[in-house]
Amino acid sequence: MTEIYLNNTLTRRKEKFTPIDAKKVRMYVCGPTVYDKAHLGNARTAVMFDQWFRLLRQVYGEGQVVYVSNITDVDDKILKKHQETGKPIREITEQTYNWYIEDMHKLNVLEPTYRPRATEYIQEMIELVKLLLQNGHAYEAKGQVLFSVDSMPGYGYLSGRSMKEMLAGARIEVADYKRNPADFILWKPSEEGQPGWDSPWGYGRPGWHLECSAMSSKLLGDDFDIHGGGSDLIFPHHENECAQSCCAHPGSKFAHYWLHSGMLMVDGVKMSKSLNNFYLVDDVLAKYPAEALRLLFISTHYHQPFNFTFEGLAQSKQILDKFYNALRNAADVNASDETADERIVEALADDLNTPLAISYLHELVNQLNKAESAEEKAAAKGKLLASAKLLGLLEQNPETWFKGKGDGAAEIEAQIVARAQAKKDKNWALADKIRDDLKAQGIVLEDSPTGTTWKKM
Ligand code: AMP
Ligand code: ZN
Repeated sequence: MTEIYLNNTLTRRKEKFTPIDAKKVRMYVCGPTVYDKAHLGNARTAVMFDQWFRLLRQVYGEGQVVYVSNITDVDDKILKKHQETGKPIREITEQTYNWYIEDMHKLNVLEPTYRPRATEYIQEMIELVKLLLQNGHAYEAKGQVLFSVDSMPGYGYLSGRSMKEMLAGARIEVADYKRNPADFILWKPSEEGQPGWDSPWGYGRPGWHLECSAMSSKLLGDDFDIHGGGSDLIFPHHENECAQSCCAHPGSKFAHYWLHSGMLMVDGVKMSKSLNNFYLVDDVLAKYPAEALRLLFISTHYHQPFNFTFEGLAQSKQILDKFYNALRNAADVNASDETADERIVEALADDLNTPLAISYLHELVNQLNKAESAEEKAAAKGKLLASAKLLGLLEQNPETWFKGKGDGAAEIEAQIVARAQAKKDKNWALADKIRDDLKAQGIVLEDSPTGTTWKKM
């Protein structure tokens, strides 16, 4: 079996990966807070962990990797959005969830094994708080339940920070009811009209960190293999998840390996909603093909900060033009040898070296272009497709790629699928409407016994 090496934030070293259960891997990655559309930074982190998921599935087998990525659907950012817009909370979270899933599909991010929503695990969160109170790691103050950082000797270990640094570097609320200013909220009271649940501490809601601790232990167990997220989450979010879970379950180490992906930057500054320097995935994908964005994201090592530019995106699109051109020229070749290039697997197994993997992909494209005999072509095409699949690339029909040129091909294909479903459901009115709407945009559908194709008028 290929050995995987990874950069473990916990030990600050590159280490050989040994899962708890030799044949099964369990991974948890913090997902989005659903209050607004995803920006490019959120998407890059999701794509990078999709790369880890793809590698783990390749090495351990598809059914052997349990991947959990949560949806935070109770949070003060959501509440703020509700207060600003007057929209019901549930409408905000459901709509944002749907947008997110759409973005993920376009970027060819595989569906994780579980996408738990925090609001469905409130009981588990309450149980965790009870355990922490029983073990003397939490206390009640002013209607809240707080975690006592002084009760945990190793607090700060994951982020490697001293208490002084932590207090200086993070936005930590200093309040006189806290025993230590770094103590953080496990449960807080909700006012009437705010999201809340009945608990032994009254009507209230969980703190953000608690959500991930409860969902990971319910779905993966108290000890699991990999925990990931963007590097902005190391402190306080991951430090606090770790503290709660280890203290609630004495003897457990919580996640054995921690992986963090670098921040996506614009002009040297982290892209974020609060700095208002963000591009929404949705807006960018209205102008560029999603696959070019995916290629751009993985062209830099996951651990490094990544500087986003539209020039870079245009270049990625050109590279894919070249790749798809090779495939278009080999359209009548039946691929054989559908195993991924060993060098690409090795590169990815070495702490997910995607830039190196992509350089081998260029070589495979050249080999396909140069192949002469039918056997050579079939083998080169098979190897290229299987290798690219590991990177979530080259899974479209070349004609679709060139026809689309990024101006909505994926959406048209999605409409064709929706129309086929409408026909299956005998919803002729909807099927006709989809065809007419596309026609109004200059797209004609052509039905044949093998399916529906489209062209521009
Ligand atoms: P949020 O919705 O803010 O909780 O973030 C969801 C995910 O996006 C987390 O894993 C964050 O680490 C990640 N994230 C937020 N901003 C960026 C950024 N600029 N670059 C990379 N990842 C980010
Ligand atoms: Zn989390």
